[in-house]
Amino acid sequence: MPSLPAKKLLDRYRVTSGAKFRLRRFSTDDVAPKLINPAEADALMAAGVARLSELQALLAAQHSWSLLAVFQAMDAAGKDGTIKHVMSGVNPQGVEVTSFKAPGPEELDHGFLWRVMRRMPDRGRIGIFNRSHYEEVLVVRVHPELLVRQNLPPSLNHKDIWKHRLADIAGFERYTARQGTVVLKFFLHVSREEQKRRLLDRLDHPGKNWKFNAGDVAERHHWDTYMDAYEEAIIATATPRAPWFVIPADHKWFARLVVVAAMVEALEALDLRPPKLAESTRADLAAARIELMKDE
Ligand code: ATP
Ligand code: MG
Repeated sequence: MPSLPAKKLLDRYRVTSGAKFRLRRFSTDDVAPKLINPAEADALMAAGVARLSELQALLAAQHSWSLLAVFQAMDAAGKDGTIKHVMSGVNPQGVEVTSFKAPGPEELDHGFLWRVMRRMPDRGRIGIFNRSHYEEVLVVRVHPELLVRQNLPPSLNHKDIWKHRLADIAGFERYTARQGTVVLKFFLHVSREEQKRRLLDRLDHPGKNWKFNAGDVAERHHWDTYMDAYEEAIIATATPRAPWFVIPADHKWFARLVVVAAMVEALEALDLRPPKLAESTRADLAAARIELMKDE
């Protein structure tokens, strides 16, 4: 069974501090050829998925920590497929996936973290955010008309709003980490060219037409503005406790492997074990065994 040089691999893409971070230094098409033999990718993925499943069972048994994996990306970068593959071996009862869409009226009547708080994973569970609170400093920043819909008091809607939102996100994630939710943030970093290929592919294949969204083509005009917004968001919110992983996503198999490795690494660092039973509970179990044995 091939083994994954997980730490070396993850260190290439892990961002734990905004100091000196530049998005353009991160590749979209790297496949770490010195670390991973593509012929072994399927076996590595299968092993990662199996290990994640074991760790999730321990997470649930211990019922103390929880894990939140946030997925952000441009359209067609592969968020859905990555979530599907990475979580494929995990007990569905231990996971909750939330896809955040444009907020509705009730959501707009609250602060932007309101809907996020409500979907945080319970202790012992894994939460997956397919898009997240980061949309508030990405799409909303790129399209100021979305901010108008939020109807903020005018005196709070000023030039520092993005800086303040980013600080609030960092504060929220610090709080979450201190409450026992490990936060990992994945930016699936796809190139503009590869996105074009994937969108064309959705047009070319009738079976994939349903995935096509004309709005995605319009968003391509704002590519550089999005990249600037991503860069600022990562700079302001990358911390050792809530790291970003800027993952090359032009090759789907590779992005999935890095994500599973990061989730496994984070759970292994928690040193999860089933809870130790109290002396009295063990005595109860012994009594239950005697009673069961007597039963016909
Ligand atoms: P896919 O296209 O693969 O189905 P998706 O995540 O792009 O996945 P869509 O339904 O196409 O799903 O898009 C959801 C839309 O909701 C995105 O355009 C996203 O930017 C938008 N959105 C999410 N959160 C917010 C927010 N807080 N404010 C405004 N728009 C948001
Ligand atoms: Mg979409």
